[in-house]
Amino acid sequence: MTAQGLKALIHLRNGADQEGRDILDALPVALYLTDAEGRLTYFNAAAVKLSGRTPQLGVDQWCVTWKIFLADGTPLPHDQCPLAVALKGGEIVEGMECLAERPDGTQFWFTPYPAVLRDEQGRITHGINLLVDITSRKFEQNQAAQAALLLSAIVDSSDDAIISKDLNGTITSWNKSAERLFGYTAEEIIGRPVTLLIPSDRQQEEPRIIARLKAGERVDHFETIRRRKDGSLLDISLTISPVRNARGNIIGASKIARDITERRRAEAEILRANRDLEQFAFSASHDLQEPLRGLKIYSELLARRYSSKLDGQALEFLGHLRAGATRMEVLVSDLLAYTQISKREEPEMVDANATLTIVLESLAGSIAESGARIDSGPLPVVPMHAAHLQQLFQNLIGNAIKYRSPERKPEIHVAAESQSDGWTMAVTDNGIGIAPEYKEKVFGLFKRLHSNEEYSGTGIGLAICQRIVAQYDGRIWVDSEPGQGSAFRFTIPRSRDGGG
Ligand code: ADP
Repeated sequence: MTAQGLKALIHLRNGADQEGRDILDALPVALYLTDAEGRLTYFNAAAVKLSGRTPQLGVDQWCVTWKIFLADGTPLPHDQCPLAVALKGGEIVEGMECLAERPDGTQFWFTPYPAVLRDEQGRITHGINLLVDITSRKFEQNQAAQAALLLSAIVDSSDDAIISKDLNGTITSWNKSAERLFGYTAEEIIGRPVTLLIPSDRQQEEPRIIARLKAGERVDHFETIRRRKDGSLLDISLTISPVRNARGNIIGASKIARDITERRRAEAEILRANRDLEQFAFSASHDLQEPLRGLKIYSELLARRYSSKLDGQALEFLGHLRAGATRMEVLVSDLLAYTQISKREEPEMVDANATLTIVLESLAGSIAESGARIDSGPLPVVPMHAAHLQQLFQNLIGNAIKYRSPERKPEIHVAAESQSDGWTMAVTDNGIGIAPEYKEKVFGLFKRLHSNEEYSGTGIGLAICQRIVAQYDGRIWVDSEPGQGSAFRFTIPRSRDGGG
């Protein structure tokens, strides 16, 4: 405050007119005046409100009557209060953050702005102090500090490694799990390049990640390999998000690294178990074909050559035997087809229109027999093995004909819809439909809703469809209205890599 301003204030205070006092009391900032010894001579209304008490003028002193503390909690000796120092001719200190307590026990934060007034001879005659209330700002700061403490406790207790780096790839923070996972302590690694953790054959990943971060993109669940301090490698899943400063500029990245070594091992185990099972099912069904063929051939020979010697019941039993062998043959060949679905090489691009034509030709017999009308919308070219798409159409259209309503001729529609990430294809019929409780079960192996007398089948067709679609990371499901018809839908993603 300037000497002029100070004089004006003193004048207002001393000119015993009520108007002057009213002006000082109406000031929204707390202020008090003292004599040269620091005794309070005036204390405005805002000061009473802030400090919670009305002092005894001419007696009380601010730093004596109110105990003042510094921001770190240490008490401020009253002869070191900024105004006390100034009154003794010392340096005027502004901007100090102080804490004091009201008589009711609540606390308030303030910053004193002291000034002194001198007479013509230069002797200090008065002191003035403005007390700026900073309680709400300090409260927010404390809350922010507490939130930061909480956050760092969460970060430290996380099972995942949480690391941050700047846009040059220099590590700027490192939590406890990062220490556990990679073997470096925070002291060892902060300030060093993140490439230290990347095996030499994967160094090119870092510039790509940085480029994506600079573009404001997040990298989600990127599965890769990193190197520990001892040189050993670990499988991890990385989620990396850009970190922005207050102005919104990207200044670095936070990285969450999850150890997926165990998961990878479990996946490999499941894969191996699946392969073994596939191999077993393949050999079993393959080896079963031979004796079955024998059974069929000899029961046919028996029926043909010895029919005159066999009575009616024996012939009937023989008929059952042949039917059973035939059914088992179908079952074994379906099972064989099921075990053989695996996508060993990269898929080709197949025109679904051409595939549908081939399937309709092969189903010509049952189409003609049932009087089915089949039409289709324009179908896409999809990244699949032609044989797989053929099997899908064959099973779905075959079922649409087989499970037709006895009351009407089958009407079947094949269509495709383009989605952002691929296609949804649908085979819709007006057949008997499927009750809601069976909508998922029908895709299970050997799951059938009818006896073999009602509709022949093995319960493998839809399981094959599901297995094929899963090979392409797609999904298959049915929407159906019992008695009205069904729509079997499956998705085929645009490309296996998903472009990124
Ligand atoms: P299968 O036809 O050999 O029994 P699927 O696995 O192809 O075996 O089908 C499983 C079951 O799902 C069938 O037994 C049938 O009850 C039901 N189903 C399949 N397709 C249809 C359809 N289009 N309409 C009604 N029911 C169907």
